[in-house]
Parts: sequence; structure tokens; C-alpha cells
Amino acid sequence: MVAQSDINRAGTILIVDDKPENLRVLSRMLTERGYKVKKAIDGESSLIAAKFNPPDLILLDIKMPDMDGYEVCRQLKADPKTKGIPIIFISALDEIFNKVEAFKIGGIDYITKPFQEEEVIARIESQMVIQEQKRLLEIKHQKLRYEIKHRKEAEAILYQSRALILSVLNSSLDGIAGMEAVRDTKTGKIIDFRCLVVNPAIARIFNREPEYLRGKLVFKRFLHKLKSNLFDAFVEVVETGKLLEQDFYYESPHSRSWYHFVAVKLGDGFAVTVRDITDRKLMELELQRLATLDGLTGVANRRSFDTAIAREWHRCFQEKKPLSLILCDVDYFKKYNDFYGHQMGDDCLIKVAQVLTKAVKRPTDVVARYGGEEFAIILPNTNAEGAIAISEWIRQKMRQLSIPHKTSTVGNSVTLSLGIAGQVPDSETRPTDLIAEADKALYEAKKRGRDRHVIRAVSREK
Ligand code: GH3
Ligand code: MG
Ligand code: MG
Repeated sequence: MVAQSDINRAGTILIVDDKPENLRVLSRMLTERGYKVKKAIDGESSLIAAKFNPPDLILLDIKMPDMDGYEVCRQLKADPKTKGIPIIFISALDEIFNKVEAFKIGGIDYITKPFQEEEVIARIESQMVIQEQKRLLEIKHQKLRYEIKHRKEAEAILYQSRALILSVLNSSLDGIAGMEAVRDTKTGKIIDFRCLVVNPAIARIFNREPEYLRGKLVFKRFLHKLKSNLFDAFVEVVETGKLLEQDFYYESPHSRSWYHFVAVKLGDGFAVTVRDITDRKLMELELQRLATLDGLTGVANRRSFDTAIAREWHRCFQEKKPLSLILCDVDYFKKYNDFYGHQMGDDCLIKVAQVLTKAVKRPTDVVARYGGEEFAIILPNTNAEGAIAISEWIRQKMRQLSIPHKTSTVGNSVTLSLGIAGQVPDSETRPTDLIAEADKALYEAKKRGRDRHVIRAVSREK
């Protein structure tokens, strides 16, 4: 802001006149009124004075010997440093004074000699006021120009960042949405969320146009379809400011997908980014599945046998149901390998596994590769008769399959020996007891001549 003292400040006036008497009179007059006065006796020195210390106003005599007032004025107006200084011409009444020329070259007023003191002062003061107003106006304009420039810059930055956000939203592979809480007007509780911003990726996830999702109040209903407590989790994000990060599974009529999302509080709502992790999830599931299977035969591997026997033992213990276990081992398999080669041996194991798999019907039954050429069958809720029936069915199927085994001494084809053990699990025994009994039974079957089953019950006295 411009201070009041600035407006009232007395200015500096340069008086240019070749007559010392005139200089003196004018100088006294102006000094008395508080002006600072500088004097120049000819055109040349006035130009130097004006250039090195520009005054606020120049009183310029027209008729001077070497350089007249017109010429001084022209030169002052030609110089950017001095062109803005207002010039009042002084001329004698009897002189031929070309007023039109005086205004044309840049004079703003004129005074005639001999002067009337009041008139001179009035003309000077009115010019000084005009000059001051001009100066203040220029300051205002400068400020305005500065403000406009800054506003334009700020607008440009805003425009840029808006454009950036838009392009990020539109090109993002992750779904991005901004949600606003909708509250009950009486209780203030969040009753749902309204979608304010959605990007194309999130619209693709839900197989909807962004326009369809924007402004809709269906979030609560939709979340309930995914997971019953998910809505409350989002409410918590808004109420506590805590971040929410989860995987979720979404099934549409066309596809099944997994997503990972992160929600953060934003105003009275939240921003959420959603990433499609279906490919990764499917790969994980496949790896998990593969990790439980035997690479050669495709039945459960030893590791999943261990978990399955513990799980089924516990289940039958709780339900007080019998649990049977069959361990089967290929007879003279070493000889088979030696005679037919390892590759044929592998093929034989695959065929045996297929027979065992066909032998069981219930989803809770488990066929597993227990060791090299040894398989195990877990039969929950199955008693001795059931286990024997399955064992005999297997032996019969093997006979039908009739895989040649020339070097076997129990027949012409591949046969199996089976050890069966069963019990209703109790607190006195462990799954390992069941396995040990089945193993003993298998040993018995081998000892008694192979190609047979032997059954043992788990005894409680050890
Ligand atoms: P028994 O009737 O007493 O069971 O005699 P066996 O020869 O079958 O028993 P043994 O334990 O002496 O030999 C088992 C053989 O099984 C030895 C091994 O080379 C073979 N074997 C184990 N795992 C595999 C496999 O994955 N592929 C093949 N081809 N052979 C295997
Ligand atoms: Mg063996
Ligand atoms: Mg064997």
C-alpha cells in the first residue's frame, strides 16, 4: 500500500532559465512552498541535471541562447530516463510562443512571464497532483499485473495437476475410486457410501460403465455380497483413519477373480485402490495343489498323507467312527525294475495308483504314495469289512489288469500285498499306532506269501 505521506510529499523541481533573476524569483517562491529546487542556467546543463537526478517536474524557459526550450524538451522526451518528467514551459508574453508546438513535443502546460505567483503555484501543484496520481496508478497497475501473472501461473499448475490426475486415473491398471460417507441425518451414523470418483479400471472390474457407478448408493448392498463384515471395516476406516488392506474374491457370471485393495480415509469418506491379483492367486493355488501331489502318480504325496491321517483321525475321534488304513506294497518290485527297466517300473506304479484311486468312492477317502512302491489308503468312517472289501476289489482289479511280471514268484502279473488296520480313535492311541499296525499287517501279508491282505486291530495294551 502507498502511505499518505507519499502522496503529500513535496517534489523536486528543476528550473531552467538563462536569466539568473528569473531563477531566483521562481526558486524562492517554490522553496517557500516546501519544494526542493534545482536550477540550470542553460539547456545543456539542464539535460545533464535531469538525467542524473530526475526531478518530479521541470519549469523550462523557451528562449535561451544556445539551445532553446523546444530542443531541450525534445531531447528529454527522447530519453527513456527522462521522458516521463512533466514539463511546464515558461515564455515571455511578448515572445512569439507556439503553444501547439509546445504541446506536440510533450509539454503539459505553460506559464507566461511576468508571472503571477498564485497562478504559477496553482499550475505546478495541479501538475504535481496529476503526477502523483499517475504514479499511484502505475503502482496499482504493477500490482495488478503481478497478481494476474501469479494467478495465471497458479491456474496453469492447477490445470497441469488436474490433467495429471485424470491421466493417471484413466491409464491406471489398478482400479481407483473415491467414496463419500452417507450419514443418517438424525444419528450421524454412516449408512452407506456414495461413489464420487471411479476410473475405467474399476468399472472394468465390476463390468459396468463408470457413469453407472458414479453417484450410486449401492456400496453396502454390494459389499454384503462379497463378505458380510466388509462394510463395517470401511466404516472403521472413515471413523478411525486406520488403513484397510485385504484380499477379496469376486465371482461374476462370467469369471472368478481375486483382488487386493487398500483403502485410506479421505475427507468424510475414503479412497480405494483395487488390484486384480487373479493370475497370481491362480498360480498360488496351482502351486499349492502341486505341492500336495506326488509328481509321478498324481495321488497325494507323503506330506499330505501326514496331514490327512491326522485330520481324519481327529474327525473320527470326535464322531466316534471307525477309521481304517490300508498300506499296499508291490510284490517283488525290485525284480520288476531289474527285468523291465526303471521306466516300465514307473509306468507300473502309475497304473497301480489308478487302480487304488478307482477303488475309493467317498470324497473323504485319501489315496497317497507312502514310499517308493508303497501306497496308503485312508478310509474314514469305514470298518474292517469295508476295508477288506476295498482291498479285495483292488487285488481283483490288479488281476484283471494283468501287468506282466515274469520274474515274480507269486504269479505271472503284478500283485500287491495289503496290510489293513482299523480302530475307532480314542485318547489312548495316536495315528502313528494305526500306521504301525497297518505296517505290521503288511509285513505279515508278505511273510504269508504275498498277493493277499492281512488285517489287524489296534490293541490298546502296549
Ligand atoms: P517285496 O515283495 O518284499 O516288496 O519285494 P520288493 O522287491 O518289492 O521290495 P524292495 O523293497 O526290496 O524293493 C522295492 C523296489 O521298488 C526298489 C526300488 O528300486 C523300487 N522303486 C521304489 N520307488 C520306485 C519308483 O519311483 N520307480 C521305480 N521304477 N521303482 C521304484
Ligand atoms: Mg517296499
Ligand atoms: Mg515291494
